[in-house]
Amino acid sequence: MTDDRNTGQDEFSLIARYFAPLSQSFAGAMSLKDDAAFIAPEPGKVLVVTTDAIVSGVHFLPDTPADLVARKLVRVNLSDLSAKGAKPFAVLLNAVFPPSIDEAWVEAFSSGLKRDFDEFGLSLIGGDTVSTPGPLCLALTALGWAGIGLTPYRSVAKPGDDIWVSGTIGDGGAGLLAAQGKIVSDVLKDRYQLPQPRVELGQAIAGLVNAAMDVSDGLIQDLGHICKASGLAAELTMETIPLSLAFRQTGLSVIDAASMGDDYELLFTASPEQADALLEQSLRCGVDIARIGRMIEGQGVRCRDAQGNDVTPRRKGWNHFIKEGGA
Ligand code: ADP
Ligand code: MG
Repeated sequence: MTDDRNTGQDEFSLIARYFAPLSQSFAGAMSLKDDAAFIAPEPGKVLVVTTDAIVSGVHFLPDTPADLVARKLVRVNLSDLSAKGAKPFAVLLNAVFPPSIDEAWVEAFSSGLKRDFDEFGLSLIGGDTVSTPGPLCLALTALGWAGIGLTPYRSVAKPGDDIWVSGTIGDGGAGLLAAQGKIVSDVLKDRYQLPQPRVELGQAIAGLVNAAMDVSDGLIQDLGHICKASGLAAELTMETIPLSLAFRQTGLSVIDAASMGDDYELLFTASPEQADALLEQSLRCGVDIARIGRMIEGQGVRCRDAQGNDVTPRRKGWNHFIKEGGA
């Protein structure tokens, strides 16, 4: 239920006008006119479900254009599905609107959704639209199909596994600094605002990897989750972590890159025998992957420099990055 003074419409006309058109490709969505949506199970598949909420002022800057907010919301969820080898097909949207949201904002937001729905083959199959005296909050639930037995968990890394990561690390975190005007780089700002979920690669490697997850809260911290879930330790060779040219130009260090969030890359472990097959899939999907370490017995993430010396990353805040990196 919303009291839509600023949108000038009640929630039903907003849904009919801006959200229902995004449901048309999915018959079971009932044009968003029923109580629920209906999904026919696909034989031989497992339904993979994930959700992420984003809050204005916490996950995105309040002045971010609405279409970019929409697309990032879609992409952070697709990143989770990709890590589990799932092919995304549908999403549900919970929109919690403060009075400051007007119809133009909703229109731009829905056009951003449409753009990414077209790109990734998605339909909007349900949700809720409510009002709040607090900040704008948007939650998306994303659904995808994966092959049974082809959903890599965090908990199944094996000792001796290579640790791999896709793309480059640190761009999203440095991009936040760019979005805040603390450093200048349109490339990095774009990487922060519009992450690229590794949808195709995730499906392509699902049968080759042991453990997998997506990196969203910092590489070292996220690798720690695989270690903990698998009851193992990881040896991370810092020099092998892939950095973009734009990141290198910021003066930030590789330790900064591995401690910053918003990467939305895939982090996975695999037996060394799978290396060629993984590289072949990387080539086929047009997404680079890099070997950055090894799973070993023990616990925790050990960071090593090229000489094999221990590097101890400190937990850092954004201001700290600026000082350390000299940016
Ligand atoms: P009820 O309150 O009876 O549960 P709603 O009025 O919340 O129903 O929603 C009516 C229909 O519109 C439902 O099919 C719901 O899934 C859909 N819907 C509501 N808000 C959204 C939204 N933000 N995005 C997509 N679908 C929505
Ligand atoms: Mg409802």
